[in-house]
Amino acid sequence: MSKKIIVSGMRPSGRLHLGNYIGALQNWISLQDSYQCFYFIADWHALTTGYEDTSDLRDNIREMLIDWLSAGLDPEKAVIFKQSDIPEHAELFLLLGMITPISWLERCPTFKEQLRELEGRNINTYGFLGYPALQAADILAYRAAAVPVGEDQLPHLEFTREVARRFNSLYGRVFPEPQPLLSEFTLIPGVDGRKMSKSYDNYIAMSASPAEIKEQVRMMITDPQRVRRRDPGRPEVCTVYSFQQIFNPTGVADLEEQCRKAGVGCVECKNILAASLAAALASVYEKRQELLQNPALVDEVLAAGNEKARAAARETLAIVRDAMHL
Ligand code: SF4
Repeated sequence: MSKKIIVSGMRPSGRLHLGNYIGALQNWISLQDSYQCFYFIADWHALTTGYEDTSDLRDNIREMLIDWLSAGLDPEKAVIFKQSDIPEHAELFLLLGMITPISWLERCPTFKEQLRELEGRNINTYGFLGYPALQAADILAYRAAAVPVGEDQLPHLEFTREVARRFNSLYGRVFPEPQPLLSEFTLIPGVDGRKMSKSYDNYIAMSASPAEIKEQVRMMITDPQRVRRRDPGRPEVCTVYSFQQIFNPTGVADLEEQCRKAGVGCVECKNILAASLAAALASVYEKRQELLQNPALVDEVLAAGNEKARAAARETLAIVRDAMHL
């Protein structure tokens, strides 16, 4: 029996951080055995909010692709490609645009939210308003059965399902309505305790070297009330402890107990975490070094993925054009 198709993309943001790795990439990796996965670099989506300065875009695309491969996305199992290399996404976006009421786009919760959040940046554009339709085209171009999403992305998927329904009711059944594949995302804090984010500059790169990891862990905020080594600590307010829970599951209970009775110092606790993190990320770091030595291999992976994606999207667009009598 052929595997169900799923589609997911990521905006190219350069080297990924631990939050991306734990939150999304590990989920993608775990899905690639059970589904026919299409994973794409969403470079057109990056333009919806970042069209004014594209000078880093090519580097960001490449760095993210290298991180994907370093983490374990396997081009033998998943189709890995770049959105802008598949013009069928743009054609389907245009065709879906013809049948999408503007009110559906305007009521998308992230549209208003982002307009508020990114105040000061001129994103009141046709492209930004239309990006849920582009997202629908990304998914429907492969007639995906499901899309891995977090709770917060459900409205977007519902939009895609509505567009698919409308298309099917006008021109006959072409698209399946993609189902949500709900994933639990583990959130990890940044070194300063806020959400890990590049814009806060509080992140640990997913492919950091052991020395970089040590330095970042050294900067982590601990319990501010624990001033001296002999003061008992409160792990529940400590960023180091949050990381220990994820990356040192076997040692975390003992560290918690020791922290509360001042049996372990923060420097030692951080050293333990840095060692656990470096061990957990060693294979990612090593694979990245290998890929950096072999840029042609990275190009080949993308070219082969683009070819497979394009063949699948072409097939869909032939059906779409036929259904619309174009
Ligand atoms: S001992 Fe560890 S968990 Fe306790 S406050 Fe220090 S760094 Fe945090």
